[in-house]
Amino acid sequence: MTQGSPFGLSPNLHHLETSATIAISQEAKRRKAAGEDVIDLGAGEPDFPTPAIAADAGVRAIRDGKTHYPANEGILELRAAAAKHLSLLSGGRPVNADHIVVSNGSKQSLFNVCFSVFGPGDVVAIPAPAWVSYPQIVHLTRGRPVLVPGDPEWGLKLSVRDLDRVVPGAQGLILCSPCNPTGSVYTHAELKAIAQWARARKVWVIADEIYRRIHYGPGPAPSFLDLPDDFLERVIVIYGVSKAYAMTGWRIGLALAPAKVAKAMAALQSHTTTGANHPAQWAAAAALGDERVEQDVVRMVAEFRKRRELVVSRFRQELPGVEFVEPLGAFYFFFRVDSFGGISGTEFCTRLITSTGVALVPGGAFGDDRWVRLSYAAATEQIEQALDRIVGFAKKLSD
Ligand code: PMP
Ligand code: GLU
Repeated sequence: MTQGSPFGLSPNLHHLETSATIAISQEAKRRKAAGEDVIDLGAGEPDFPTPAIAADAGVRAIRDGKTHYPANEGILELRAAAAKHLSLLSGGRPVNADHIVVSNGSKQSLFNVCFSVFGPGDVVAIPAPAWVSYPQIVHLTRGRPVLVPGDPEWGLKLSVRDLDRVVPGAQGLILCSPCNPTGSVYTHAELKAIAQWARARKVWVIADEIYRRIHYGPGPAPSFLDLPDDFLERVIVIYGVSKAYAMTGWRIGLALAPAKVAKAMAALQSHTTTGANHPAQWAAAAALGDERVEQDVVRMVAEFRKRRELVVSRFRQELPGVEFVEPLGAFYFFFRVDSFGGISGTEFCTRLITSTGVALVPGGAFGDDRWVRLSYAAATEQIEQALDRIVGFAKKLSD
């Protein structure tokens, strides 16, 4: 029965809204196709091509007939490459390939893990601002997402004190570091404190580390996998190739989970997708397993770093009163707009695209509409031009 919905749709979908980030990028594409002069700094999608070695491995897999159903949990070659890769990123710690499940993008990994560990009424804490899909995914499990506001003095991150204050009885926590939308990165000590808090309260931690390689400090960003095993009994790490390997369209994501959860996730997708796209798994195995791809990642991250510096320095020089989060990872710049006469993020973005053609994402999509997100995963010339327009627009607002 479909009680409670005037349209006859299931109550499963009561909270469902289209992803705002995807919607904005589609709107920008639509305007471009209609001949408008649009610069899209809305989408969080690298503009680089997939590294040739990974792309070739995908093509080869198709030619070699790797075109049949894969194993539910993913091909062993990819899981083994991912285990080795994650181990190397965390100083050689053991990582068990049997605890890795491959899905169609880390978005599906997130859905599968949430669906496997949360159920009706479960409270899931989400530091806010938060990436659009987390609350939606929790709603789809019939759980209750609770946004816990981060501290503006602290890169919009939160502490265990905030968690205890806002969600003392939570069953879960979804933590994204490096963070989409803020660019903040939790330190090793902060992750450890959160892991201790979660262990003591038997809280599932879903650690979205998809941006781990895109870090502007030394090495990869700190990870839950840098902690000893006894901290990780209820931690699921989400990883993938979309961002650092510029492979968004291949749709491959990974989860490293305790054995019981990994098994449930694989069983779940045995009924929904029969595993992830088979040839794409070979491409991802090459991305994570072939050492030569590392040079591509280093080059792309260096390029993101330059773009980050460009955005930060232009905001500092040309819009000195505007508050922003110092970006330490990912490819997002999160700045505050309410100082422009109390304008909301939504109004700022609507007026900006209409009058200048620049697409950004209002902070409201992430739970706080005093802010706006700019993605610098775009060509430098595009970013420069967009900044000219944003600065001009913001100065007019202040006049
Ligand atoms: N987590 C975060 C924080 C993201 O920004 C994205 C980007 N869409 C994803 C997960 C999902 O990425 P994908 O499904 O392409 O692996
Ligand atoms: N994660 C990216 C973003 O936030 C891609 C869009 C999406 O999957 O939401 O823009």
